[in-house]
Amino acid sequence: MTGKLRMKNVDITNLTIKEASKLIASKQIKVKELVNLHLGRVKKLNGKLNAFITICEDQARHQAEKVDILIAQGQKLGPLAGIPFAVKDLFSTKGIKTTAGSKVLENYVPVYDATVISRLKNANAIIVGKTNLDAWGHGASGENSDFGPTHNPYNLKRVPGGSSSGSATAVASGSCLAATSTDTGGSTRQPASFCNLVGLKPTYGRVSRYGVIAMASSLDTMGHMTKTVYDNALILNITAGKDEFDSTASDGIVDNYAEHIDKGVKNIKIGLPKEYFDGLEPKIKAAILKALKILEKLGAKIVEVSLPHTEYGVAVYYIVQPAEVSSNLARYDGIRFGFGREMFGAEAKRRIILGTFTLSSGYYDAYYLKAMKVRRLIRDDFINVFEKVDVLICPVSPTLPFKIGEKNTNPLDMYLADIFTVNANLAGIPSLALPCGFIDDLPVGIQIIGPDFSEKLLYQVGYAYEQETKWYERTPKL
Ligand code: GLN
Repeated sequence: MTGKLRMKNVDITNLTIKEASKLIASKQIKVKELVNLHLGRVKKLNGKLNAFITICEDQARHQAEKVDILIAQGQKLGPLAGIPFAVKDLFSTKGIKTTAGSKVLENYVPVYDATVISRLKNANAIIVGKTNLDAWGHGASGENSDFGPTHNPYNLKRVPGGSSSGSATAVASGSCLAATSTDTGGSTRQPASFCNLVGLKPTYGRVSRYGVIAMASSLDTMGHMTKTVYDNALILNITAGKDEFDSTASDGIVDNYAEHIDKGVKNIKIGLPKEYFDGLEPKIKAAILKALKILEKLGAKIVEVSLPHTEYGVAVYYIVQPAEVSSNLARYDGIRFGFGREMFGAEAKRRIILGTFTLSSGYYDAYYLKAMKVRRLIRDDFINVFEKVDVLICPVSPTLPFKIGEKNTNPLDMYLADIFTVNANLAGIPSLALPCGFIDDLPVGIQIIGPDFSEKLLYQVGYAYEQETKWYERTPKL
């Protein structure tokens, strides 16, 4: 086959990291060709989708050529060699503008890479661009970006979820094979489920936070999105592990998350937390129950369980998180970084005011301290339930991807979008979101939640379900 013919045969909208790596290793495609195909798609679609704030065309081409040379020389390469990646614009990237989705940092160019980024680079991944997001990670729709909303590739009038809106849209639209994301209260899982993707929120401390613009430091986790569960596991192999620059990064051993991913779910006990199904939209509930039936057929045991403090999650989150936000955003004073504080958008200002209030003398005990006590009860609920079951399965979002403009005039409405995701952050435990079907042509997701550092098990359960259903094969028509 000639080079041209080979390229034509590759449909990048369906391509996974696993397949791309095989094509590269067997020399059926050059990294430069693969990267060019993706850059072409990024540029073609960005006017429509607004997934990228910065496109790294020159750097990506240059890196691709370098990897091709290493391959030609027969050198040993990293496990993500030549894989086109997008990076949420909250991760510091050396020499590449990093805006946090805010005009405050519109011209900010970091002088160093976040640990996740340097690890991806060492694995020879290629960064094609920096993705749009709700400014500072504040939001659940992508509409809080100072650079305009991102559109859901499955329905352009709908939101892709947030805050990692651009990362989800970039992967789902076939503009890259994977993207980094963060998850402080659901920002990886909710957009993943709105865009038919797999998104991991790791255990707090599993992946270093160093170099990622902090939102709420006790809740922030560094995730990523992919088309498939296997691809997702491959990335955690690279990003997980201790880091001398982040004292909260765990030094516990890093599993090989992709190995034995096909072990199946025989005799795995799956809990169905009843609080996550009360009042849920019937069609979403039906989609999740159907997923559980499939897992049951594969040999899992399903039991109903209770997490009695679930209902306090959103209230606790919207006290603890703004408190930490108000402290983290204090450093953007117009002197050390970026432009002045008058450039903050309405949502960031709202959180700074709320957070400053709940931390102020006289109110601290009534709000922050009390919220921290309830946070402990929420974690205890999970600890207790994991004595009875191995993992939990529940919805990611109480609604389908909503219309652009539908919720952004009412902050409380938007906050309630986080009802099923924030508790895993408050408890610090991992959760894997993955596709479980379509309703009215819009994607729906489930999440598999497990105890601390159970990522390998989450991948195993997710993989078993995915192999039966293969929802990832349904790509958007763009
Ligand atoms: N939607 C949540 C919020 O606005 C989650 C954000 C996140 O995880 N970064 O706080």
